[in-house]
Amino acid sequence: MEETKEKVSIRRAMSVHIRALKELYHLSPRYFQISTISALFSATFPYVTVFFSARILAELATLRRTEVLWKWVVIGVLCTGILGILKAILEQRKYTLDQDLTLRKDHLFTQKMFSMDYADMDKQQTHDLRAQIRQNENWAGFGFLKIQNFYTEFLENSIGILSGIALTVELFTSPVPASAGVFTVLNHPIFVVVLAALMILVSLLAGSLSSKAFAYWGQQSDEATMGNRFLDHFCFTGIARNRRMDMRMYHQQRLMDAYSERSVVFGVNGVFAKLAKGRMGLCSGLSVGVTVLLTGCIYVFTCLKAWCGAFDVGSVTQYIGASTALANNVYEMTSLLGELKTHTIYMEKVLAFLDIPNSMYQGSLTTEKRSDRQYEVEFKDVSFRYPGSEHWALRHISMKFKIGKRLAIVGENGSGKTTFIKLLCRLYDPQEGEILLNGINIRKYNYRDYMAIFSVVFQDFQLISQSLGSNVAGNRNYDREKVRKALIDAGFEERLNAMPNGLDTLLYKDFGEDGVDVSGGEAQKIAIARALYKDAPFIILDEPTAALDPIAEAEIYAKFNEISGDRTAIYISHRLSSCKFCDEIAVFQDGTVVQKGRHEQLLSDTDGKYAQLWNAQAQYYTNE
Ligand code: ADP
Repeated sequence: MEETKEKVSIRRAMSVHIRALKELYHLSPRYFQISTISALFSATFPYVTVFFSARILAELATLRRTEVLWKWVVIGVLCTGILGILKAILEQRKYTLDQDLTLRKDHLFTQKMFSMDYADMDKQQTHDLRAQIRQNENWAGFGFLKIQNFYTEFLENSIGILSGIALTVELFTSPVPASAGVFTVLNHPIFVVVLAALMILVSLLAGSLSSKAFAYWGQQSDEATMGNRFLDHFCFTGIARNRRMDMRMYHQQRLMDAYSERSVVFGVNGVFAKLAKGRMGLCSGLSVGVTVLLTGCIYVFTCLKAWCGAFDVGSVTQYIGASTALANNVYEMTSLLGELKTHTIYMEKVLAFLDIPNSMYQGSLTTEKRSDRQYEVEFKDVSFRYPGSEHWALRHISMKFKIGKRLAIVGENGSGKTTFIKLLCRLYDPQEGEILLNGINIRKYNYRDYMAIFSVVFQDFQLISQSLGSNVAGNRNYDREKVRKALIDAGFEERLNAMPNGLDTLLYKDFGEDGVDVSGGEAQKIAIARALYKDAPFIILDEPTAALDPIAEAEIYAKFNEISGDRTAIYISHRLSSCKFCDEIAVFQDGTVVQKGRHEQLLSDTDGKYAQLWNAQAQYYTNE
């Protein structure tokens, strides 16, 4: 992926990560409060241990006063004990909040998906972007998860550096006594400057080598994404419920196995293994190597000064412990800055997803709640093409819905019937013309208010693995009598009575063996009940034939007609006989309405599209 090799400035990296941090902070301020206190304890803990050990050792090596030794032991044990206990408690709390934050973050993505304009939600690019974000999380923990780590590491390293400096200062300022002769040269400021510079330079070098190794890792996102797709597809797709029969019948597992054997991305000969043996491994090795070298220099300098009498043996422990920890913290901080740069491109993808605008939600007019259902919708010279398509799916459509009447929409596949419904329900906005509700452009209405006036049973409706009642009501708390009535009206009474748990019956088996699988026709009835429960002024039924046999379909249409009551009802069907009792029939062809009228009227035009469709289908109906 070319973009992963792109140079990122530290300024850009910082601004992206600060923004990401703010987003996460909004999700769980508590997590960050606990995290901050926990980082404070974690970062100071090692230095506290070093400090007390140094005091005890110093006393042991010099005056060996019992009361002083006792004092240091008791205070040391108390301090480290209390700090250790607090640190453990805080880490537990942080762990729980961390899990909670991960859930909240996932919820944020889901919410975003549902709040963006439907057209954007439906775009392949949006799905690709979401898939990439998920892949990056899965293979390297890139994305919001990293921000949590970065934040903790940044705090711990900053506190670590400050504490390290505080405990190391005396290493440089304690002079070697004059009795050390030639070694008094160690008091020369040049030593202080050289050692301090060496500590900083080597830590920076080690840090940048480590972040270079990390960057190699980051550059393999293409391969990793592919590897994850393979893994996901070949390990999980095969066991999906809707594939099980084909898998068994046609031994598709053999094809899957062959592919998974070839997928070597994460295998011992994969790209990551090769990098680990090569450049990436070398950088990591060098990074550790130079750090060891630095530690060696610190040891020599400290021991030499102690040997010459600059300080006692206890201080040796303190200075060595503190200065190596300090160097380690500088190293970690440098690696962190490098990682931030590598991670920027991945984080930008997450922010780009969250920044997808939701322009449909801009309207502010409320639709007045009318008990008389007098909602008049009109299409005025509407044309529409799907985003990214050159082809007009609808062209110059003008139509007014007659309140409380039955409208049938017929036409061949691909003639624009479903698209027309999608525009009516404002899943998409037209590029030309306008749609009016009671004379006002629907863009001016509050989006949710406008959506609320439609109940639709889509062709590819979906139920979810929850109770039957919740599916119908779209809510966990619902009016049981109203749900029961909707199910009975939709023709589901017999099946409902046969269910021992009634409305509490769990649909499908995803969450338990006691779940019930329903047939296509039964699912259709539940979907219709759901539309009835919503009790909207418009009720729309989009070609329910996929799941139904002709008799069941005719039954549903007859029933639907009856239960639609005073609502404005729209049927889409390619079975013309189901629509002949409608008040009006609109015939679609290539995205335009070519005929409009009642059944007999349309049929009398023997050259018209309707007559042509009717005659083509007549053979099915002669026996009905
Ligand atoms: P019908 O419901 O009459 O079968 P549709 O409204 O589904 O027809 O489709 C009308 C036209 O729009 C067809 O040419 C179809 O290929 C195209 N189309 C439908 N959905 C999409 C989409 N999501 N993206 C691009 N083109 C689409």
